[in-house]
Amino acid sequence: MTRADIGRVTGLSRPAVAHRVSDLLQRGLIVEDAEGPSTGGRPPMRLRFHAGGGVVPVASLGARRTQIAICDLAGEVLHRTDIDIDVEEGPGVVLPLLMDTWEKLLDGRDDVAGIGLGVPATVEFAAGRVESARVMASWTGVVIPPVIAERFGVPVLVDNDVNVIAMGEHRSVYAAELDDLLFVKVSTRIGAGVISGGGILRGALGAAGEIGHIPVRDGGGVLCRCGNLDCVDSVASGTAILRDLRAKGRDVASLADVTALVRAGDAETMAVVRQAGRWLGEVISGAVNLLNPSVVVLGGDVAEMFQPLVSGVREIVYRRSTQLATRSLRIERGRLGPGAGITGCALMVLDHVLSAQAVDAGPR
Ligand SMILES: [Zn+2]
Repeated sequence: MTRADIGRVTGLSRPAVAHRVSDLLQRGLIVEDAEGPSTGGRPPMRLRFHAGGGVVPVASLGARRTQIAICDLAGEVLHRTDIDIDVEEGPGVVLPLLMDTWEKLLDGRDDVAGIGLGVPATVEFAAGRVESARVMASWTGVVIPPVIAERFGVPVLVDNDVNVIAMGEHRSVYAAELDDLLFVKVSTRIGAGVISGGGILRGALGAAGEIGHIPVRDGGGVLCRCGNLDCVDSVASGTAILRDLRAKGRDVASLADVTALVRAGDAETMAVVRQAGRWLGEVISGAVNLLNPSVVVLGGDVAEMFQPLVSGVREIVYRRSTQLATRSLRIERGRLGPGAGITGCALMVLDHVLSAQAVDAGPR
């Protein structure tokens, strides 16, 4: 838009607009170009957001594999690499490796705006402290941001991996049309992230969305690793689907084998996956009654690969949830795909570093 447009929208005086614009130009957050609609005479200078005005290093930590990337200020990935590392090696090994990898990818660029990290654990968001770890016991109590900020000197944001993806799906696909979204990640484990009124719902200790350990009815008495029986995680996760197929004598080494069987239309495999979807639907229908989301997004490799799982979820949720909650409810598969964690981390950082408050606080 032009300076005059900004004046009209904000009601600020011309000198005030000129002052703010020149500040943003100087900091590289916007650029000027003269390509306006030609109305005869000199076209007014147009201003636009400058995605190349800085970079955001991000990482999405998985139990065995970590995605590392450098994004621009629009959240687009500029460079990306994946490394195989066991998070159980602990923060003393993993964090230095991450930082070294970012530095390599940055290749001398010094305009880092902020850094984002998604971890497979409950996180006390404000402090960036790992509270209770699902798979990374050696990280419990570790406060990550100061360790990274010491080397890079920029804001560092850390959140639970599922929350990060929920925000990413909401921001990049749904933000313009709706404010209430339930994201359920079905992978080797099951977890959820809740967007309520446009923001992430964290709960008192950051543990909101841990739906994996809600039990289902008629699960068959499966002992969950948490010590309870028939948690949805123990009967409907990717791990559970593999176990159930093996118990039926099927030779499946990985989820990729299950995908191949589903694609081939194998009846027994489809039945196991669909039943997992029904169990998942039981827990999701409770969440739908409680939260009244506009859309339930099913993500994670299992949900993305298995149509019968999504069908099972739909079957139960539309039957079990209240009529009002399901009147316009949509149940859809995640659209960010395997890069969802990376995109979500970048958006989490950009929300922070490009907020009016942070921009007002002065140059980076
Ligand atoms: Zn459990």
